[in-house]
Amino acid sequence: MGIVTDQSPATLQPAETGLVMSDIEAFAERLNSYLEPEQINLVRRAYYYAEQAHDGQTRRSGEPYVTHPLAVAGILAEMHMDYQSLMAAMLHDVIEDTGIPKTALEKQFGATVAELVDGVSKLTQMDFETKAEAQAENFQKMALAMAKDIRVILVKLADRLHNMRTLGALRPDKRRRIAKETLEIYAPIAHRLGMHTLSTEFEDLGFKAMHPMRSTMIDRAVRSARGHRKELLNKILDALQALLDQHQLPGKVMGREKHLYGIYQKMRGKRKAFSDIMDVYAFRIIVDTPDTCYRVLGAVHSLYKPFPGRFKDYIAIPKANGYQSLHTTLFGLHGVPIEIQIRTEEMEETANSGIAAHWLYKSKDDVINGHHARTRKWLKGVLEMQERAGNSLEFIENVKIDLFPDEVYIFTPKGRIMELAKGSTPVDFAYAVHTDIGNSCIACRVNRRLAPLSEPLQSGQTVEIITAPGARPNPAWLTFVTTGKARSNIRHFLKHQRHAESVALGERLLDKVLTGFETRLADISEQRINSVLAEYGLELMEDLLADIGLGNRMAYVVARRLLLNDSQQDQAADEHAQAEYESDAALAVKGTEGMVVSFARCCNPIPGDPIIGLTSVGRGLEIHQENCRDLSQRKVQPDSTLQLTWDKDVSGEFTVELQVELEQQRGIIAQLATSTNMADASIDKISVDERDGRISIVQLVVRVRDRLHLSQLIKRLRALNGVMRITRLKN
Ligand code: MN
Repeated sequence: MGIVTDQSPATLQPAETGLVMSDIEAFAERLNSYLEPEQINLVRRAYYYAEQAHDGQTRRSGEPYVTHPLAVAGILAEMHMDYQSLMAAMLHDVIEDTGIPKTALEKQFGATVAELVDGVSKLTQMDFETKAEAQAENFQKMALAMAKDIRVILVKLADRLHNMRTLGALRPDKRRRIAKETLEIYAPIAHRLGMHTLSTEFEDLGFKAMHPMRSTMIDRAVRSARGHRKELLNKILDALQALLDQHQLPGKVMGREKHLYGIYQKMRGKRKAFSDIMDVYAFRIIVDTPDTCYRVLGAVHSLYKPFPGRFKDYIAIPKANGYQSLHTTLFGLHGVPIEIQIRTEEMEETANSGIAAHWLYKSKDDVINGHHARTRKWLKGVLEMQERAGNSLEFIENVKIDLFPDEVYIFTPKGRIMELAKGSTPVDFAYAVHTDIGNSCIACRVNRRLAPLSEPLQSGQTVEIITAPGARPNPAWLTFVTTGKARSNIRHFLKHQRHAESVALGERLLDKVLTGFETRLADISEQRINSVLAEYGLELMEDLLADIGLGNRMAYVVARRLLLNDSQQDQAADEHAQAEYESDAALAVKGTEGMVVSFARCCNPIPGDPIIGLTSVGRGLEIHQENCRDLSQRKVQPDSTLQLTWDKDVSGEFTVELQVELEQQRGIIAQLATSTNMADASIDKISVDERDGRISIVQLVVRVRDRLHLSQLIKRLRALNGVMRITRLKN
């Protein structure tokens, strides 16, 4: 552990390791070719800071730890990366390995560098180890999604490259783990970014570490084949060069060998024998302009016969990562296949360095161009090439998704990766896992800590959903979910739920009225029911009951239609029934009716209060206190109100609002709260309104079971010293 001091290590003299000292100076010397002196100084400061922070740490090889960040910066300097990337490279293991917080780096080197270091640390902490190879692609995307700044990826790639180059010092199992991760995650990322040289080195180093025997065998075979091939190779090379001269086409021809891992993959994937692969002679011709590429192509096709179906024009239609070239295969002498790539110098550079090529050719004056501009320029270039080629939108989408994912990647507790739209919440995640999980979710843990269900998720988090049997989706979720799946499932559930509850209420309302006519729904003939349904234009009794429950139809009117022909009851009986219905045939409210029964906010009825129901179209039944002032002021149709009673077994908690007048004294509000809790009532809201210096008015919104419970609560509060008056607020 390095010692963290408030004093900036960068202002201290370097430790007495003369060797390291000269290393950094030699490095700074190299930067002179493309960076300003002030920028080089900042890089130097970052180096000294890292040296101090890693003081006492060594690499597995025994060297001081700081040699590693210096080497990483060296790799980036070869790509001519900007000074901030180099500073981040110097500091890239500081947060992870020395415990110095991001804020300290921010103070010392500014927000951008701190942000880069933090991004690299997050990628380092990521546990990419996984058994499921199918996940590899998601891991790549996750890595890209986590890096808001593409330079984070480039620093991480350089870090990984140096680690791969020095892998030998590690234990075999660790070596294999890192190699596997490199082959599955980092080599493909380098490939996506068009960095061919880098991805090739990753692959060969990874291959060597994963399969040392196979790698050695192929290497040996390649060396021996090279000897046998040399004569023929040179012959073709000379013939091609002579051809260019003859046609006065400027260009240079070079022989090309497949890299070890490439050969291995071909042998495995295409089940080819080593000799078949090595029998191919491959060349690259580098020319000055795209136009020359096509003329060279014409010339080589006149020299040897082309293989049908093997010509590829990646100049007109570049690959997704920006790669451009012409590919063709020819029948050489004695039918030996000759593979030829033709491209310009610039295409060659892009093919090797990909996105990094844009840093490579940065001149000293080109300072204004930020990395974002560069990334965009690269992407734009790729897109423009594609557009000129008139290719599909799908391609552009792919490039964008590859480089700037609009998704977040989340781990399940078992390590599976879920891909979700940006902004997704734990509820979205729950529905993505399974509809039932979504419907019954009640809470969640994000990275093992309880978190709100509405909190947007970040790539790399592990999310665990807590469910409860019988739990239901909350309508409020609709305000924050972002995925279509969650939204439609919640809506569907609520609609279904509401329908079921409306039917149940409708049936109770209808039966209540029918009881007044001394009959029951079950006694009415199917024939009669069907003819009433036909009159209303409905198909199912269920729909009619739902209509009643929702307040769209009056139970009384429906009952009369049902009875019209069935019984020959006369007007008198009818009136008798109506009277009875209005007097004592009150419906009992249980409090568990669900969405179709609601308790009015104006008067907050609680069990024990005399109540009345108001049916309104589409909204079901709203329960008010009988003497609700709001209700009497509203001009409601008498026949849309309904006599109600409370059921014997009411369940649930009901809201009441109390106003407490009290004398101001220290701690009285706390006592009020404590007493409320002691009375087993829960407080929803408490607000204090001072009237003058001495007397305060407290508004208390509490939840109680019923009137009895409320009176117990009020009694308890009255007993408090200083409480003068308590009133229950209605309207
Ligand atoms: Mn490192």
